[in-house]
Amino acid sequence: MRYTYDDQNIFAKILRGEIPNDTVLETEHSLAFNDIQPQAPLHVLVIPKGPYVCYDHFAQTASDAEIADYTRAIGEVCKLKGVENGGFRMISNAGENGVQEVPHLHVHILGGRPLGRMLEKP
Ligand code: 5GP
Repeated sequence: MRYTYDDQNIFAKILRGEIPNDTVLETEHSLAFNDIQPQAPLHVLVIPKGPYVCYDHFAQTASDAEIADYTRAIGEVCKLKGVENGGFRMISNAGENGVQEVPHLHVHILGGRPLGRMLEKP
């Protein structure tokens, strides 16, 4: 699968500083910020700074350093937000079936309330 990255997406604009964000954590290769329309008391988005469309794209083409940094950044956000109290959910939507709105890889970290079952039955 070949992915084409659109550098006009909203998270690319956040990374370039063209749009403000409520930063939770910044590392060498990753940025975490609060979702603008939170769906739970805790709703943080974690993105890599590199131009990756989705997790598949990232896992196939990012460097080991970027992958390690991103994974550790997600762990650090979980620690900062105390998700061990009550648990949490991570979601990364991709493409049409995943109903991905912003075509720059992001993991949603959700928590702070019971989140219900993962998927509704069709
Ligand atoms: P997706 O549906 O692509 O998985 O999720 C995109 C997420 O990005 C949504 O939860 C939406 O609320 C969030 N979002 C969209 N635009 C902005 C923005 O400008 N700033 C922030 N912080 N979040 C945004």
